[in-house]
Amino acid sequence: MSKITHILIIYTGGTIGMVKDYKTNALKAFDFDNLKKNIPELNLINSKIDTISFDEPLDSSNIQPNDWVKIATIIEENYNSYDGFVVLHGSDTMSYTASAISFMFENLSKPIIFTGSQLPIGDLRTDAKENLITSIQIASSQIDGKPIISEVCLYFEYKLYRANRTTKINSEHFEAFTSPNYPALAESGVHLKFNNDLLLKPINNDKLIVRKELNNNITIIKIFPGITKNVIESILNIKGLKGVILETYGSGNAPTTDWFLTLLKKAISNGIHIIDVTQCIGGSVILGQYETSVKLKELGLINGFDITTESAVAKMMYLLGLNLSDQEFRELFMKSLRGELD
Ligand code: ASP
Repeated sequence: MSKITHILIIYTGGTIGMVKDYKTNALKAFDFDNLKKNIPELNLINSKIDTISFDEPLDSSNIQPNDWVKIATIIEENYNSYDGFVVLHGSDTMSYTASAISFMFENLSKPIIFTGSQLPIGDLRTDAKENLITSIQIASSQIDGKPIISEVCLYFEYKLYRANRTTKINSEHFEAFTSPNYPALAESGVHLKFNNDLLLKPINNDKLIVRKELNNNITIIKIFPGITKNVIESILNIKGLKGVILETYGSGNAPTTDWFLTLLKKAISNGIHIIDVTQCIGGSVILGQYETSVKLKELGLINGFDITTESAVAKMMYLLGLNLSDQEFRELFMKSLRGELD
């Protein structure tokens, strides 16, 4: 008989804990107590489960970096008392939050599993129950008293992903997420099958560090044919701007027009970090592969390789919060810190 694990569920909001307001037909958050009432199966799991809820559950479109800090603090304060953590979160911005948490926790050695659902928990056809129950089982999975998972993951519709590799791809299908550049860490069928070779292993026994300084003076620029000088210039001149995620074409390509390159050059010389991330759902930036990215490389754009935009946003806020030198920032951004890029 395996040991009874102790799991903490943190409810932040999202569809998973919502009910329909029949007057307006809109979904609104309900009291967290109802979550347990709606899933009596939770009592059957071989884990002791405690729950903490945000006082005001949030639709994840309202989640901000200070809420990431709130989630991180709850986990930090309870870290030694639990074997694993399940965070219930709206799916809309789940990849951002879960990516951020993955960077904020250095030397993590326990599972933090994010999940949510497309249909409210009380709905007849809900996906919430399976997502929640399997997430708890994953957070509880151990071998020889040690957790199988010791990283931040996202579980949705029978698949466990590395959180900082995910992106939301569908607003209607139960299969709402994908991990375009890294395979699923586990699949849930008749058996819960972990792909052990793909998992992050705790490297040493260093003490957990939770970084809560996040700098959100950043932006995303998605280029498109016809984007004007005025737009690029205005954005790059934003006061206090520290970083730009430049969503480029294909393998990291962008126009070679003089005005565009000159504006990027000026921004970089003003200390703004510019990351080259592809607009493509899958694949990697290869700076210098085409003539249209040779100049970007020469100007000193930072290669985002195959990082997702969500993960790039989170990594940038985290690294800016560490107050690194330009060179250190550059080197760390291009290095895999939590398995977020190849
Ligand atoms: N709008 C909701 C949210 O992200 C959707 C969901 O929960 O899936 O909070």
